Amino acid sequence: MHPRLATDLAQLPELLGTVGERAIDILDRLPDQPVVPPLRLPDPEPLPERGAGLTEALEEFTQAWAPLLSASAGPRYLGFVTGGVTPAALAGDWLTAAADQNPTSALDDAAPELERRTIGWLRELFGLGAAHQGAFVSGATMSNTVGLAIAREWLGDRAGASVAEEGTAPLGRVQVLSGSPHSSIAKGLSMLGLGRAALVHVPVLQGREAVDLAALERALTQVDGPCVVVANAGTVNTVDFDDLRAIAALRERYDFWLHVDAAFGGFASLSLNHEHLVAGLDAADSICIDLHKWLNVPYDSAVQFTRHPELQVRVFQNAAAYLGPLGETPDHVHLTPENSRRLRALAAWFTLRAYGRDGHREIVQRNIACAHALGQAIKTISGLCLLAPVRLNVVCFTLAEYPTADRLADLAEALKHEAFLTPTTYAGVPALRAAFSNWRTTETDVHRLTKALIDSLNHAAPSL
Ligand SMILES: *Cc1c(COP(=O)(O)O)cnc(C)c1O
Repeated sequence: MHPRLATDLAQLPELLGTVGERAIDILDRLPDQPVVPPLRLPDPEPLPERGAGLTEALEEFTQAWAPLLSASAGPRYLGFVTGGVTPAALAGDWLTAAADQNPTSALDDAAPELERRTIGWLRELFGLGAAHQGAFVSGATMSNTVGLAIAREWLGDRAGASVAEEGTAPLGRVQVLSGSPHSSIAKGLSMLGLGRAALVHVPVLQGREAVDLAALERALTQVDGPCVVVANAGTVNTVDFDDLRAIAALRERYDFWLHVDAAFGGFASLSLNHEHLVAGLDAADSICIDLHKWLNVPYDSAVQFTRHPELQVRVFQNAAAYLGPLGETPDHVHLTPENSRRLRALAAWFTLRAYGRDGHREIVQRNIACAHALGQAIKTISGLCLLAPVRLNVVCFTLAEYPTADRLADLAEALKHEAFLTPTTYAGVPALRAAFSNWRTTETDVHRLTKALIDSLNHAAPSL
């Protein structure tokens, strides 16, 4: 064994203790460090020919890189839809690396079964019936892509062909109808050989991001060929929800695969006042739900549900002599694009075991309350205005006067020490979004952000 490895192995308990202390330092700084620190990159160095050992590497990371990392796990990182890491999820993630399992096949141990049972819990958490089979993937983009891949196979079936065997040629032109699709849908279509141009934007309701049902039905009557509808449960700008029940009912008259992108909106099922927004989710053929957002597990984790596991296996089966037959319960290796991968379920298992439905409901409801509190505050700040009502956990707002992209970028820049918000354009108007999905965020953070907004408007940003 290399002497550096041998030394680190001999000192592993103490070393891991030190790593734990450094992790605590990072976590302790989260509430008050600059949410986005100034970028001062260290000079690149050549590949180390001789290693320095873990102690040196940890020192260098702590000095040179740790201070450059944003507080994205902290309470006022409100950009994108981010989420943090619950204490139990962190423990699960550490132990995932320690055990270093590859849960794709059932040949050795119980890890694949732990994943299955975690998926069972998630199915209950989101109110889905037993007909939905799930699989862990790396994020919602992959979950959407897997859902669309199964849809593609289903469309092939309709055309008397297997896309998995013959490719997409027998399908002809596929149309994917959606009101406000996430950008990852187009990426998925590109990867799947269906093409970004397959995506047809259906008009949305006046002043909304939810699809106009009458327009969707008109579009369906005009489709002549294979068709997928991507319904959206939680759009990124204004967290709007398509009427999932009504869309599912359209399948009685039109032939299409229903995929629901519920990446973070699926968590509305945890809030007693909002669960109606996802009514009908269970009727979908495939569903995308992100876990590294509102479940507050570390990147990379999402789940893909489908009612058509037999088609999923047709797409993703990885036949190899050493993997054994498919059987009644196919191994995870046959369900998603990846073969080998980490035991992704463990962080989710830990946080669900530790906090339960009730604990995760409290996070979701508190985040929603924070979004509403910020929405109320913004209404009282002269110089700002809401661009949409706060429907769930995102506040979409802009400058009351001259809301140009440049001025909003200045505002976001002025806020960076206190909070991170990401820019967008909604209904043609440049805007900022504050998305609440971190388990640490409380009303105190909303007050800090409100104060920072007022200060920025009054002093900090030159153009404001
Ligand atoms: C975040 C998000 C995605 C993509 O998720 P990744 O985890 O970044 O791949 C897809 N759809 C919606 C609605 C999202 O919010």
